[in-house]
Amino acid sequence: MEHQDTIAQEQWQSFREEDIFRELKTSAKGLSQDEAKNRIAFYGENKLPESKKVSLLQIILHQLLNPLIFILVAAAVASVAIGEGKDAIFIFLVIFINSALGTYQEFNAEKSASSLQKLMKIKARVRRDSKETELPSEQLVPGDVVLLESGMKVPADMRLLEVSELEVDESFLTGESIAAKKQVAILKESLGVAERTNMAFAGATVMKGRGVGIVVCTGIDTQVGKISQDVTESVSAKPPLVQRMEKFIKQISIFIIALSIILGIVLRMQGMDFTAIFFFVVALSVSAIPEGLPVALTVALSIATTRMAKRNVIVRKLTSVESLGSCTVIASDKTGTLTVNEQTAKIIQLPNNSQYTIEGQGYNGEGKVIDSQGKSIEVSENDAIAKIARIAVFANEGSLTKENEKWFYHGDAMDVALLGMSYKLGIDPEKWLTEEKPIGKIPYESERKFSASFCNENNSIFINMKGAVETILDFCTSVCLNGQIKEIDKNKILGDAEHLAKGGYRVLAFASGECKSYQKKEIYENDAIPALTFYGLVGFIDPLRHEAKISVEQCRGAGIKVIMITGDHPETAGTIARELGIADESTQVVTGQMFAQAGAYDSPAFEKLVASTAVFARVSPTQKLEIVDVLIRRGEFVAVTGDGVNDAPALKRANIGVAMGSGTDVAKEVGSMIVVDDNFSSIVAGVEEGRFAFDNVRKVIYLLIATGAGLIILILLSVLAGLPLPLLAVQLLWLNLVTNGIQDVALAFEGGEQGAMKRPPRKPSEKIFNTLMINQTIVSGATMGFITFGLWYYLNTYTQMDETYARNLILLLMVLMQNFHVFNARSERVSAFKVPLKKNIILAFGVLAAQGIHIISMQIPFMQNILRIEPVTYKEWLYVVALAIPMILVMEVFKYLRRKKT
Ligand code: ADP
Ligand code: MG
Repeated sequence: MEHQDTIAQEQWQSFREEDIFRELKTSAKGLSQDEAKNRIAFYGENKLPESKKVSLLQIILHQLLNPLIFILVAAAVASVAIGEGKDAIFIFLVIFINSALGTYQEFNAEKSASSLQKLMKIKARVRRDSKETELPSEQLVPGDVVLLESGMKVPADMRLLEVSELEVDESFLTGESIAAKKQVAILKESLGVAERTNMAFAGATVMKGRGVGIVVCTGIDTQVGKISQDVTESVSAKPPLVQRMEKFIKQISIFIIALSIILGIVLRMQGMDFTAIFFFVVALSVSAIPEGLPVALTVALSIATTRMAKRNVIVRKLTSVESLGSCTVIASDKTGTLTVNEQTAKIIQLPNNSQYTIEGQGYNGEGKVIDSQGKSIEVSENDAIAKIARIAVFANEGSLTKENEKWFYHGDAMDVALLGMSYKLGIDPEKWLTEEKPIGKIPYESERKFSASFCNENNSIFINMKGAVETILDFCTSVCLNGQIKEIDKNKILGDAEHLAKGGYRVLAFASGECKSYQKKEIYENDAIPALTFYGLVGFIDPLRHEAKISVEQCRGAGIKVIMITGDHPETAGTIARELGIADESTQVVTGQMFAQAGAYDSPAFEKLVASTAVFARVSPTQKLEIVDVLIRRGEFVAVTGDGVNDAPALKRANIGVAMGSGTDVAKEVGSMIVVDDNFSSIVAGVEEGRFAFDNVRKVIYLLIATGAGLIILILLSVLAGLPLPLLAVQLLWLNLVTNGIQDVALAFEGGEQGAMKRPPRKPSEKIFNTLMINQTIVSGATMGFITFGLWYYLNTYTQMDETYARNLILLLMVLMQNFHVFNARSERVSAFKVPLKKNIILAFGVLAAQGIHIISMQIPFMQNILRIEPVTYKEWLYVVALAIPMILVMEVFKYLRRKKT
């Protein structure tokens, strides 16, 4: 492999197949594992250089460019100027701690963004040593044989050897917005990327069809690798809520600074001396700016994402953490989400009305097929069953094999289930497929609803086809009844299918026919399909997820409507929807055909259909998008699930796109969250966590803003009353950043409140600063401000107490009020005494730590010196505690009155 440099420049599109194999020392069987290992050592991993990270320095700078820091630096400089060097040291310490905390948070957020990227890593299907396996795409090397399927990302640059309707979206390379149709014919040299139609390029998306290709370039040698230097961009990992808060804080900062300057001028005119004014302005600004907020918010949101991850929901776009709570409609898939997607073929029904039961469960070949007399049957004894088994094996893209007593499978659930059925009939499908390789295939796509293959049988070409009953019947002109070809009665067959579907079976029809003339094609139009003979139906059972039923119930309580959108038969859909409680007896199932008759999707008739039901069946991917669109237009906030390529537009359009963990790369790329276990219940858990998260964000904001309001009221009242400043700048910093800072971060760990899924969804337009927030902030802030002012006034007017000692008491009272207020902030609705402490042990420690740190600081000379504090007597402490108690009482009354009102 001396030609690593030239390999990237080869004109692969102009090579013959044999030449590619020779050049890359490989074959259609793929490389051997050993050879692949050698090559990876030589070529390196198939990956692009990591995108540039935000540097630590940038993060630190970002932390420092903040109005609070400017104010603090000014205060520190002024302190030095008036000879209070220790204040300056303290202020710089605060700046340091604050920035370090913020930096740490921001850094963590960047890190968690890159762990998400890991989850998005793509897998490739590779043939090595003649066996197909799944590998992380990094491990691909030139010469590997790779299989492509709709929904996948192309993992490396490759030359295509086989294609079947392959269409690839390579717009990021070519700018061409429609998917490129691929083919395998040899092309001339020196063609542009867009013209190399027999190649697929790394990073492109397979929109349709299947293909097999041979890897020619990996990593930075690929086309995308060559341009990757330009496209590596860093994405901001900051949640939008935090960004909005930071902006909000900047705005209040500017407002407060402006206000303080005006007040300062007024005070100056009243004759106050300049340094006093300066410290007053600083004090006011420091109290009003909720410096601890971005950190606490980031903590709250990152806790929410961690909790969601524990419940199998991975958030891709942080907006969905905050918006999940507003979800009013969940539009769910049926297969895999509401059911476990473990299809098992259960019943074979022939046109002569004989039925055969298939035993067993799951993806294996264990069980028997028995007739109505209870006798087990084998293919060799029953021609009709043998024909269905043939179709099942040949119109199949899956694999099911047994090795060392263990079953391995890959592919579509229906296909694997049919292979299971064939084992149960005594067939070895692997053997059949190697002896009689199909010469052409029509892959399954959900718009088409069938799959087929062409096989050579006794010197003529037969097509074997399986798929949705209506679709298959469209091709059929005859039926095989007791071994004879007869005229077909389609209504009878549709009736049989409907009967099975009513029983909750998913039904596939089986047909076959001889092709008069056959030509291998990359794309088979319907006219390549001859008239077919219908052979029978197979019914599949896909067990329901029992948790889904509970979750549907939970959604009802939470004011969320659950609807099912499926490509399956209306009767199957209806039966399952009723079993899950999504629909009841009176619910009519709306089908894709009804939509087609209703007209354009913005017509009133279409909208009426959408509004009329909760179950949509035989819906095409386009109609799914239209349903979502109509719902959103009707003012709903819609979460939509999806897994296929065709779901991508609907996922994008949805307010919250929910991609399935087992879904295609494309779906995961556009979804705003990924449900790892595909389970409907996890989506509902995500909604619940979303509501918790939003509640916690409100709590965290409330605690800090209320304290800020209290401090402003105290300072303004004191100035108005002609009293000295009740708290010094360092003391205010201490309150805001240290004691309350600890508590606020601890509050972010608050568990969810009980009733979260019992109330209706929050309106997406509802602001965090709604009437409730403003009212509770004013009431609690006023309580705090007036009580502390009362004490300050009393101590200054009626006692001879030294000013510094009085401040010592005021500071202690403030800390205690904050301690109490945390408990108010734990719930906006329920009494503080009704929120169990064990739900947030961290908070209990946080409150003890805040109070503890303050008490300890009162004993330590160094801290005494900086904060101008000293120990208080036991009695004084109790008095101050008593003064702080109204903090709880007032808010209890507030909550009580509010509960009574609603
Ligand atoms: P769902 O919404 O339940 O996921 P799909 O769009 O996957 O529905 O399937 C729609 C219909 O297409 C099914 O009812 C079935 O008749 C048919 N079908 C599904 N999978 C296959 C397959 N692998 N081969 C042939 N037909 C299929
Ligand atoms: Mg499906």
